[in-house]
Amino acid sequence: MALESKVLDLARIEGRSVLTEIESKELLKQAEIPVVETRLAKSKTEAIRISKELGFPVVLKIASPDIVHKSDSGGVRLGVANATQVGKAYSEIMSSIKEKYPNAAIQGLAIQRMAPPGLEVIVGMSKDVQFGPVLMFGLGGILVEVLKDVSFRIVPITRRDAAEMIREIKGYPLLEGYRGQEPADISALEELMVKVSQFVEQNPEIKELDLNPIFAYRDRAIAVDARIILETPEKV
Ligand code: ADP
Ligand code: MG
Repeated sequence: MALESKVLDLARIEGRSVLTEIESKELLKQAEIPVVETRLAKSKTEAIRISKELGFPVVLKIASPDIVHKSDSGGVRLGVANATQVGKAYSEIMSSIKEKYPNAAIQGLAIQRMAPPGLEVIVGMSKDVQFGPVLMFGLGGILVEVLKDVSFRIVPITRRDAAEMIREIKGYPLLEGYRGQEPADISALEELMVKVSQFVEQNPEIKELDLNPIFAYRDRAIAVDARIILETPEKV
């Protein structure tokens, strides 16, 4: 099933290749890849209404195709506890972004529930000149950034490949539950990785994909952030 959606039509009309978190999650959801429900608020009033509907605490994030690293630019507020705080966080994020990126196109704020703490892992796809789409798995945070503790396989991957990728990283014992920490649902992660592989295989117009982080729990795994970059039209 190839991607056919309003999300892609809009990106094409606007001539951009970066999809926002909300747009990326919408496509992933269609592919049955688990993502935290995320909605767009275009005003403070809307942000408060959506937060109440989703239930507190919530997370607010800047929604702009021009801002890829949302927290680095002051565009993320975690654990926002009530309507008053949503209003305050809304103004703070908007003014910080307008000061730092006066020319960024801003769609509004992405609102989602604050997910309970889980083990952070990442799944990514990038295209290698020689091998084409390559899937990456690693543990989130400093383990990836500093230690580069990641594994790779060429797309498409099988369930067995996913199982190997997970067990190959040095941090694997953390996923099994380390020093009283809850073990992660490894089979849910394997399933998620196979689905991501199928998703990118079926949609060659995707140039890059990042689920960073995915929260892994004892009984499930769910992406709290997502980013998709499309090929520029002439390359598809
Ligand atoms: P970016 O990667 O663009 O800076 P993220 O959406 O990844 O922004 O948010 C930064 C961090 O905030 C994440 O790595 C994660 O630890 C935390 N976070 C993001 N969304 C949620 C959420 N819905 N629930 C809990 N924590 C979250
Ligand atoms: Mg992220």
